[in-house]
Amino acid sequence: MFNRILIANRGEIALRVIRACQDLGIGTVCVYSEADRDAAYLKYADETICIGPGPAAKSYLDISRIISAAEVSDVEAIHPGYGFLSENSHFAEVCASCNIEFIGPPPEATRMLGNKARCRELAKKAGVPTVSGSEVIDSEEKAIKVAREVGYPVMIKAAAGGGGRGMRQAHNDVSLVSGLMSAQAEAGAAFGDASVFIEKYIERARHIEIQVIGDKHGNMIHLGERDCSLQRRHQKLVEETPSPVVSPALRMEMGAAAVKLAKAAGYWSAGTVEFLLDPSGKYYLIEMNTRIQVEHGITELVTGVDLVREQIRVAAGEKLSIRQEDVKWTGVAIECRINAEDPEHNFRPCPGKITNFFAPGGPWVRWDSHVYTGYQIPPNYDSMVGKLMVHRPTRQEAITCMRRALEEIVVEGVKTTIPLHMDIFGHTHFIRGQVDTNFVEGYFAKK
Ligand code: ADP
Repeated sequence: MFNRILIANRGEIALRVIRACQDLGIGTVCVYSEADRDAAYLKYADETICIGPGPAAKSYLDISRIISAAEVSDVEAIHPGYGFLSENSHFAEVCASCNIEFIGPPPEATRMLGNKARCRELAKKAGVPTVSGSEVIDSEEKAIKVAREVGYPVMIKAAAGGGGRGMRQAHNDVSLVSGLMSAQAEAGAAFGDASVFIEKYIERARHIEIQVIGDKHGNMIHLGERDCSLQRRHQKLVEETPSPVVSPALRMEMGAAAVKLAKAAGYWSAGTVEFLLDPSGKYYLIEMNTRIQVEHGITELVTGVDLVREQIRVAAGEKLSIRQEDVKWTGVAIECRINAEDPEHNFRPCPGKITNFFAPGGPWVRWDSHVYTGYQIPPNYDSMVGKLMVHRPTRQEAITCMRRALEEIVVEGVKTTIPLHMDIFGHTHFIRGQVDTNFVEGYFAKK
């Protein structure tokens, strides 16, 4: 096992990794930017190193600065968290060339799966169902031909995409051509890769994703699904497990498909295989995320498996501590992402100072966050305040518990998604489990 790990991330996930390291008796080195200089979680690391100014390109995304910090602090491994360099196969290769273990999948697997178009090809070969669509599109004529073949509406998606960017829905040839240009421009600017492809738009879909984890000895298991259908701008807002619409048989079938894809890529570490489930019960792969996900905590609550700990263990060459047949799912866990943003203005980020904060707590509540009264949310990064999770025997009890926690939490000084979450948890369709990926959009359209 490692003696010392560097955490190449910030905020709640840096703190989450520090906690896992403390439980394992591993020393921690936390890097930070000047914008995070006063962040309180840094005091829980054994050593901290400033790696540059606020803009991520000059700090959390700067490979040479992170590797220098790792070398001077003499760590054996780097945990990249999520976002930033977590899905950067070049970074994983640089780590390997410096004799530092990257706590994540092998770079070859990330390269193959991180590109949605390539991931679709691999899934097809492995016999995992994908949404009908195309390979990378190189002309308007080709785009129109594919869209007419699969039938409108279609989704134009960036091959290198993430965070809901570089994605456009098209209902006819005209919106296809304009969507194609704007998706390519957005993808080029965001990812340095303008390639896009086309998929059939799955109507009234639910977003169902499967958590997988594997070791370097060829063991790969799944830990069931998370239902992430409640989204804004194609980004998750509420996640729950188990999904109200996934039967035990479907869980095992989708789990087996996810494991098949991960194995076909020679994967190890934690990963998430994302699917869309249509109203008839058919599922289609959309992508694989080759990192720990924001919403991993709810899977931990229902399975009792500490995913970050497992990631660290398998990176050190140990075998998975659990076999597929031993995975048991208990109760229902739900997470609300509490973000500093304004739902009334298209979820525009609202960075600023938290003037008053009170953490939710009590039985069955987990609050993963790094904020406190007086904390300044920097404008440079994402707008997450924290992840509010509950775990109860039934979905109805989990909803009641979440309402209590949402009433209890106090975040003043910035606009947050808390009032919207309160509305959602009182909404008949949500309570009945009848939502799809357009629920939030529909909710605002009716207001
Ligand atoms: P990103 O990597 O940018 O998050 P994803 O491929 O994971 O993009 O898709 C994000 C969300 O966009 C999905 O959860 C779903 O709501 C919507 N979406 C993506 N592809 C389709 C599709 N083919 N049909 C309908 N909705 C889709």
